This record gives sequence, C-alpha cells and structure tokens, in this order.
Amino acid sequence: MTRSVTDIIAGLGTGIHIDGQWRQASSGKTFDVHNPATGEVIATLADGGPDDATLAIDTAANHQKDWAAVPARDRSEILRRAYELLVERVDEVALLMTTEMGKPLAEARGEVLYGAEFFRWFAEEAVRIRGDARRSPDGKSRFIVTQEPVGPCILITPWNFPLAMISRKIGPAVAAGCTMVYKPASLTPLTSLYVTDLLAEAGLPAGILSVVCTSSAGSVVEPWIDSGKARKLSFTGSTGVGKTLLEQCARGVLRTSMELGGNAPFIVCEDADLDIALDAVMAAKMRNMGEACTAANRILVHRTVISDFAQRLSARMSSLTVGDGTVDGTDVGPLVEPKAVTKVEKLVGDAVERGAQVLTGGSRIDGPGNFYAPTVLTSVSPDADVMSTEIFGPVAALVPFDTDEEAVALANATEFGLVSYVMTESVDRGFTIAEQLEAGMVGFNTGLVSNPAAPFGGVKQSGLGREGGLTGIDEYLETKYISIPVRWPRWRSTAADRRSCGPAAR
Ligand code: NAP
Repeated sequence: MTRSVTDIIAGLGTGIHIDGQWRQASSGKTFDVHNPATGEVIATLADGGPDDATLAIDTAANHQKDWAAVPARDRSEILRRAYELLVERVDEVALLMTTEMGKPLAEARGEVLYGAEFFRWFAEEAVRIRGDARRSPDGKSRFIVTQEPVGPCILITPWNFPLAMISRKIGPAVAAGCTMVYKPASLTPLTSLYVTDLLAEAGLPAGILSVVCTSSAGSVVEPWIDSGKARKLSFTGSTGVGKTLLEQCARGVLRTSMELGGNAPFIVCEDADLDIALDAVMAAKMRNMGEACTAANRILVHRTVISDFAQRLSARMSSLTVGDGTVDGTDVGPLVEPKAVTKVEKLVGDAVERGAQVLTGGSRIDGPGNFYAPTVLTSVSPDADVMSTEIFGPVAALVPFDTDEEAVALANATEFGLVSYVMTESVDRGFTIAEQLEAGMVGFNTGLVSNPAAPFGGVKQSGLGREGGLTGIDEYLETKYISIPVRWPRWRSTAADRRSCGPAAR
C-alpha cells in the first residue's frame, strides 16, 4: 500500500549521506523544500557546505580501488535490484516527486519507470564492457586495450526530472565501477534521498555514493572539483552553469559530460499528418508543463497549414486542466517556483509587444501555487525573446515558414542543438531535413525521443557527451593500452630492430 506523502517524507534521510550514514551539516545549517502547488514547506534538510563536501570526496576516493575490483556481475545485480524496487514502488516515488516538483502523478509515474530503465539498461551493460587485443601493424607488439573505471565522479542534476536525471548518471557509474559524490537540485532533493536509501537496500555498499544537499551549490561542488580526488564531473543543467563548471574543471583537467540547455525547433511541413503532428507537439511542448530541455520551444509551421494547426492546438491546450498534480484529472501542474512564472509572463509580454497574437491563455493563474495557463501564441516575430530563450513553461510559440530551406535555417538559428522535431509524411523529405538539422537528436513524426537505450545529448552549446545508449557507459570508462613486445619468432628480428626495440625484441 502506498504511504501518505507525509509518512514518505518523514522516512527520508537528513539530506547528507556519507559512508552509509545520514548526517547533519557540519555547519548545523538547514534549508527548506517547498511544494510548488501550495507554496508550503514540506521538508527541512541539512544544508551542506565545504566541510561536508570534503568528507564526501575523501570517502569516494578511499573506496574507489575496492569498488573497481568488485565483479561486474555483482555491480550489475545491484542495479537490477534497484530497477525492480523502483518499479515495485512506482506509486510512492511518483507521489513524492509530484509533491516536490509539481508534475501530474501520471507523468511522475512515467518518469519513475523511465528512470528505472536506466538501472536496468546499465545492469545489462555492466557485464559487456569491451576491450581489444591486436598485433601492431609492424608485427612487433601486442596491443591489449582495456577499459577501467574513470574514478570518483561528481554528479550534479537539475530539478525538472528528479529521478531520471540521476539514474542515468548513477546507472553507468555503478556499471563502470566508479564511486560518486552527488549534489541534487536544491528545489527537488527529496526524490534523490529516497533513491539513496533504495540503492542501499538494493545492495550498494556504503561509501560508493555520497549525497550532499545544499542551498549553496558552489560551496560544495567547487571543493570537489579542486580536491584533486575527483576524476570526472557529469552535469545536467543550464548552459550558463555548465560553462562555469567547464572552466573550473579545466583547472584539474577533469573529464566532463555536459547535458545542457535546449531551444528545440518543431517543424510542421504542409504534407504532415496534422493529427500525428498535434499529438507530437502536445507531448513535446506540454510534458513536464513545458519544463523540459527537450521542450518544443519554436514551433515552425508551413504557412498553408498554420491557421488550421493553430486553431486545433488552441482547442487542445484550452481543454487542459491546470492544478495540483496530486489531484486526479490534473493535466498541467504548477511551475517549479514563483520566479519561473514571472519569467514566462515576461516572455509572453515581450512576444505580444512584438506583434504575436494570443489564441488561448496568456496569463498567470492566481495562487497559492505557481500556475500559468496553457498558452498558444501565433505570428511570433523571429526577434521575440521567446525565440532565443528556453521558455520552460506551457507556452506554444508558432512561426510561419514557406520553404524547407527557410525552416531549416530558422531551426538552426540558435546556439543550442539538443533536439529538433520534423513532421512530414514523406520519408525522403523527413530524412533530408533531419540530416540538415544541427541537433544531437531528431524526432521524426514523434514528440518523444528519450529512451535509455538511445544516446541522449546535444551539439553546439547543448552539451558534450551522451547519456544512455550503447556509448553511455563510455563516459565513465578510461581506456588503457598495454604494449607487450612480440619475442617470437626470433629469427625475424634484425640488428636494426634490436637497436630500436630494446631487449624484448632480441
Ligand atoms: P541550473 O540552474 O543550471 O542547475 C542545475 C544544477 O546545477 C542544480 O543542482 C544547481 O544547484 C547546480 N548549480 C547551480 N549553480 C552551480 C554552481 N555555481 N556550481 C555548481 N553547481 C551549480 O539548471 P536548472 O534550472 O536546475 O535546470 C534547468 C536547465 O537544465 C535548463 O537549461 C534545461 O534545459 C537543462 N536540462 C538539460 C537536460 C539535458 O539532458 N540536456 C536535462 C534536463 C535539464 P541548485 O539547485 O542549488 O541551484
């Protein structure tokens, strides 16, 4: 039976978990976590600082050697068990997530199952880490190439997907044999505390994963980066913070994975099946109340169908029920914090000032809670701020185009390149456009691209590296090459070989 959210929160750890123990902050400080649907304080957590950070990274470094020696099958079984526990407890985790983050329960359940899949996927990858053995081209050496865990990893996640953003880091790190220090987002740390205990229950030994919640991110993360003990940083969040972290990581030449911001174009060609395109745009725009890096930010529609498309999209958007995500029948929850509503309000105001028409919505909904009405804007000027800024809210901004070349040019006119979408009934046209889009991922007649078995990530200022898929584990592995001279057959070695290759060649 699912416990009440009060009971679930009462059972969570303090906010700092080091070497298997929940602890208070060494400074004694705490910070509050709020429910975005009501504004109420739902938890008060230990507020970590530099001393807690140092203890955590020392612990990770101390356990790295032994953890790397644990057989891959054992690490795999831990992840598999964690996957099973999450699936068993989907309702409980979803309720907790909705209460701290706002998304409707059905979406939270979807995220728990999606996030759990990263544990299952990487349980399967853990036992398939590959190496390579070859002769050198000149025949004189054997090359043995092995993959080793990169070492202690710093993991940092945003607030918008409180489970999936961390399971897609912990999954490959455990599979590869890395220890971890983790700082969750201060707005939504509770799901992480739940997962920390769940991983321990699944068999993750003490000290492999330390968690430090904090209201002052830099005071924890910078000591980790400068400790000389971390070998890698994996970050999901905004491009601005990502750039700061890249600069900091350069000081110690840390490996980095960066999953950063997006500004996704969504192209609807005149030959698109509009029912498919509408389903896809609703998924790509309204998932997570629009608070997703993959959200359709600029909806580019062929001029001949834009009026029909806009009317039908407005009908769908205006039929959505906005409210507390824990209440049955809610389609759209609150935005994560009050300033998120203010940001959306400003973007819509700017678009309207520059000539956009509001077909539905266009204003905040009175609180308590951080609500904004599902909105459709049409005839949006390419100069409007909404075209160059991640909206991160339930606002669909429509722009007309006349040719495929123009659509591709508009789509690529951004420094971001996470995901793009294209809707057309022509496979050839869809591929041709997809090939020209500057993005790490393309949704072709679909508004959902995320899948643990596929490589997630962006180009340009949307990031570095990929999470999930066949290459996701590589982000946590270091390549080592061992050279062994070939001693046989002796009769083929020459005097020149002996001079250049040393004793082994003789
Ligand atoms: P954010 O402000 O960049 O924060 C992300 C994380 O970084 C949080 O844990 C935050 O801590 C921490 N942080 C902030 N300043 C820091 C600093 N100086 N040093 C170290 N850590 C720091 O992003 P957000 O608002 O949480 O998330 C939204 C952004 O994430 C959007 O741009 C979205 O596109 C992007 N995102 C990208 C992906 C992807 O896969 N590409 C997925 C999801 C989200 P606090 O919580 O304490 O501020």
